Amino acid sequence: MAVQPKQNLSMDSASESGFINFFFSMPEKPDTTVRVFDRSDYYTVHGKDALFAAKEVFKTNGVIKHLGSGSRRLESVVLSKMNFESFVRDLLLVRQYRVEVYKNKSGSKSSKDHDWQIAFKASPGNLTQFEEILFGGGGLGEGAAGVVGIRLGTGGDGQRVVGVGYVDSTLRKMGVCEFPDNDQFSNLEALLVQIGPKECLLPGGDVAGDVGKLRQVIQRGGILLSDRKKAEFTTKDIVQDLNRLLKACKGETVSSAALPEMEKQIAVSCLAAVIKYLELLSDEANFGSFRMTTFDLNQYMRLDNAAVQALNLFQVSSDDPSGTHSLAGLLNKCRTPQGQRLVNQWLKQPLIDKNKIEERLDLVESFVEDSELRQSCQEDLLRRFPDLNRLAKKLQRQSANLQDCYRVYQAVGQLPGLVLALERHTGKHQILLNAAFISPFKDLISDFSKFQEMIETTLDMNQIEHHEFLVKPSFDPTLSELRENMDQLEKNMQATLNSAARELGLDAGKTVKLESNAQMGYYFRVTCKEEKNLRNNKKFTTLDVQKNGVRFTNSKLSSMNEEYIKNREEYEEAQNAIVKEIISIAAGYVEPLQTLNEVIAQLDAVVSFAVVSHAAPVPYVRPRILEKGSGRLILKGARHPCVEAQDDVAFIPNDVTFTRGEQMFHIITGPNMGGKSTYIRQVGVIVLMAQIGCFVPCDEAELSVVDCVLARVGAGDSQIKGVSTFMAEMLETAAILRSATEDSLIIIDELGRGTSTYDGFGLAWAISEYIATRLKSFCLFATHFHELTALAQQVPTVCNLHVTALTTDSTLTMLYRVRNGVCDQSFGIHVAELANFPKHVIANAREKALELEEFQDISRVDKEGVDAGPEAKRRCMEKQEGEKIIEAFLAKVKSLPVEGMTDEAIKAELCKLKAEVVIQNNSFVNEIVSRAENVKMVSV
Ligand code: ATP
Repeated sequence: MAVQPKQNLSMDSASESGFINFFFSMPEKPDTTVRVFDRSDYYTVHGKDALFAAKEVFKTNGVIKHLGSGSRRLESVVLSKMNFESFVRDLLLVRQYRVEVYKNKSGSKSSKDHDWQIAFKASPGNLTQFEEILFGGGGLGEGAAGVVGIRLGTGGDGQRVVGVGYVDSTLRKMGVCEFPDNDQFSNLEALLVQIGPKECLLPGGDVAGDVGKLRQVIQRGGILLSDRKKAEFTTKDIVQDLNRLLKACKGETVSSAALPEMEKQIAVSCLAAVIKYLELLSDEANFGSFRMTTFDLNQYMRLDNAAVQALNLFQVSSDDPSGTHSLAGLLNKCRTPQGQRLVNQWLKQPLIDKNKIEERLDLVESFVEDSELRQSCQEDLLRRFPDLNRLAKKLQRQSANLQDCYRVYQAVGQLPGLVLALERHTGKHQILLNAAFISPFKDLISDFSKFQEMIETTLDMNQIEHHEFLVKPSFDPTLSELRENMDQLEKNMQATLNSAARELGLDAGKTVKLESNAQMGYYFRVTCKEEKNLRNNKKFTTLDVQKNGVRFTNSKLSSMNEEYIKNREEYEEAQNAIVKEIISIAAGYVEPLQTLNEVIAQLDAVVSFAVVSHAAPVPYVRPRILEKGSGRLILKGARHPCVEAQDDVAFIPNDVTFTRGEQMFHIITGPNMGGKSTYIRQVGVIVLMAQIGCFVPCDEAELSVVDCVLARVGAGDSQIKGVSTFMAEMLETAAILRSATEDSLIIIDELGRGTSTYDGFGLAWAISEYIATRLKSFCLFATHFHELTALAQQVPTVCNLHVTALTTDSTLTMLYRVRNGVCDQSFGIHVAELANFPKHVIANAREKALELEEFQDISRVDKEGVDAGPEAKRRCMEKQEGEKIIEAFLAKVKSLPVEGMTDEAIKAELCKLKAEVVIQNNSFVNEIVSRAENVKMVSV
């Protein structure tokens, strides 16, 4: 719980009513925007925001005070500066809310308390104004902040086109992209995963039809939606705006009208809306600093949101302190913020160009094989680089100070050591290491040589030890004079220390020290133990008591200190012109600094992959990458990297084999908790790891590049949702089917559990058959429908696998081994027993299971031609009839023209088909339904 601030919200009654009037006159806002009022030494929030802050920051309503009375009673909560900062961080980075900070025009203490105006605002996609608060402490915030604008339009052929314009103000990139899309917006979804924006702008007003679905897709990705006026999506002024914002090539003026991107008019209108939203034109520092790109949807592996979740790419809950549950947490062992950002980006943008993948793997391999280089980079060299992107932005805005310049100087100063370490490497990828790192670093050393010289000649290096960043005194006679005074004062203060030590009976420089900091200047300090010597001595004044001791002064020191501070202020004043000059020269180094940022990030990311690959419980291996279309995916001894990293798991490796034309579709059955999900997801994770250029958790791996990983994972609570979940599954799965190719990997887990089992089975069958016979993608399907395993008899590329378990009368032990063939036992009852289900439920389930076994015996009897009794014969006929009913149902489901149908129409049609089946009252069919429902019941 946050400490409650000491400040009280004190206002005289005139200013109180002035404020209340102002507050109630403000335009309405959504709950996802929080308004904060800056009152100089503290902050306040009001109304709903106050209730929210009380709950989130202080976890109590006790902090809520009230201004005014009656209908104009206004809840208020006071936030200290620290509360404010952590609140803002939480709002923007975690909750993805917007924040507005208001300041009083005539000063916060003024009685004109209606004169408030907005001073700063930020949204998850535009953090510029809050950057210091959010990342000032050198925190490892994800930094990447982008805003996209999206608008639907119609292409020349009458087909729907999605236009996307985006701006990433951290990386100073703009982009446009236009593409046709299906009614599930699968392409858009993949694009949003790849660029990972925090915020999305849509032309306001529309909620109907397509736009409603569009909104769902955006929100599913956890992206904040902001409605903007339609009129802002216009290409009217865009050419001249871009001419200002875009970076010119050397010696040329920008002529954005001629850019090929301008042909994408729908996307460009979205870009215009984003530029307006971010107010890029109102800050001159933005001029001439952006680059424009066209984003090609097919340059990276496509992932849908379901795959991002199923493969657990990013941490979703905070109860994973080690971060190993997510792939990002596992793979991100970077030492610099820029490295961390890059790994997160790589995870969203797996490569599909084989050469590029091999190149990354070569780099990773160099560091896996050279332990000395890997360790020195990871444990020592990389730590020394600050967030160079932030420094570059500060330089660009000319808001940098001498300390920032010194940090750049220090970072560049680390490069020769890094080059030396890299040059010592003698592995087989030496040439690549040279091209990727050594030679760019050497170029940067030479690019920065004048910068380094400038810092060495201008900065007073002697003072840097005392954390003071000042210009050398020799630069100007006034500075020299002031420096002499200050040196003399320092000497005198040292002499005061000696006399004070004598007076107190302490040892100067040991038990009593002379220290200084930026706020207080010079003071004495004794440890708390020696504090008694100070007590009752009137000659000394205590300044404050801290954990590390008591800070105090005497009249002599305090007057010298005052003089020293005055001198230092004069010094800073006198050096001002020179500092300005230094900062403006430094601003010319933004480009090479950004390049340095990128190369360091790449090195950090590659080293991180090598560290993880080497340090895993069983070291990862280099995958053999085959060209896209090779149709092979063979993993030996594959493991799930996140599950095996958990402390209490002894992971059982398994094999996976896909070969085009032979085995392309695996159905996995077996007991609950038997490891089906883990098995199918680990294949997805391994493919993704290989395509981002990392080693993989296998004994051996050979994989063809895949163009996308698509997933369909049944929601855990879907059982109670019934038909609507069934429809949602149907539609989402249909979208998968439409965007997959024969080079895609599809992962389906528990499809069809969300509905009455019979519908679910029909759907599962139809979809599986379509994937296996038409799409021919790589597909893994984990299911509880044992009936589905019959597909293997119809389609030769379909294979049955099952996870194994050992059962005795009273125990069930999961073996987690995946074997060929169908699982021959129903383990639901054992699982229920182990989960301490009530005895009568289990007894009932056993009875049902026995009845079913009888059924199976009948069919065996039937096949083997053994004579059976009249009851068995009747059942046998029922079964044959039942099978026909099922076949007819499936054929009808398959032939539904879903493409042209609305959700409602499909739903109605399916209800009708289901009713047709039920009306026939076939005991075989009913039995299948009830069996599946029993299994479902005990497996809940
Ligand atoms: P359900 O049918 O209930 O969805 P499931 O068969 O999909 O279950 P999983 O969720 O994959 O089962 O696995 C259950 C647990 O078993 C996992 O949380 C994991 O701890 C463990 N597990 C899975 N696979 C393995 C393995 N190969 N080696 C060791 N432990 C494993």
